[in-house]
Amino acid sequence: MAGNWKMHKTPAEAGNFARLLRQRVAPGRGVEVIICPPFPALAAVATKLAGSEIGWGAQNMHWEPEGAYTGEVSGPMLQAMGCRYVILGHSERRSYFRETDEEIRKKVGAALACGLRPIFCLGENLATRRSGKAVDFCRRQFKDVLEGMEISVPDALVVAYEPVWAIGTGKTATPADATEVIGALREEAARLFGREFSARLRFLYGGSVKPDSMPAFLEEEEIDGVLVGGASLDIEQFTAIIDITA
Ligand code: 13P
Repeated sequence: MAGNWKMHKTPAEAGNFARLLRQRVAPGRGVEVIICPPFPALAAVATKLAGSEIGWGAQNMHWEPEGAYTGEVSGPMLQAMGCRYVILGHSERRSYFRETDEEIRKKVGAALACGLRPIFCLGENLATRRSGKAVDFCRRQFKDVLEGMEISVPDALVVAYEPVWAIGTGKTATPADATEVIGALREEAARLFGREFSARLRFLYGGSVKPDSMPAFLEEEEIDGVLVGGASLDIEQFTAIIDITA
């Protein structure tokens, strides 16, 4: 269960949320919970979650370890502060900041190389969904970013299927549609990395997940969890989503 906070919460607000989350999520639940705050709030969240089972991650990084890239943050910098996860390839980065599959591939490679776990996002837009090409499109995004990548264990990576038209719109994919895409991605993963790897690779669904829409996704065998945007900003909604899995 991962929360993508996008550009929300100050360090104080984030620290307070993390403290409450730690109180509410009992250890040993068998559910991996991760929050991804904006960069300035990472340190506050890290402090509040130190020694807990709740993970935290960033929402982006550069592919170079250091250099003259004003405004950027590198994987080793995140890793050095104890960060374990990094969201890469989110559709908002692809659309507003023109990130390409080639750049995302470099970022995923750099994250893996420094021991960060990418939460690699992909998904089709509405026109592609309507044209009936969603599965092929997502399969291509998956292959273009991951083909030939050195991935030591399936746990090193998480893949999030987030149809662009479902993000922040209140419309979710149907669990059957999400399963169709994720099933195809698992096939692609089997082709690229072998069956055993593919069976253990974790796939999340993201796009307008709320406590009431969540259970239907979890019933699908292909779907291992969810990447939650808006509902992860609210402690009641996010813990309700986590509680459903318990
Ligand atoms: P919403 O849950 O707000 O639709 O956002 C989903 C998302 O983009 C998570 O990365």
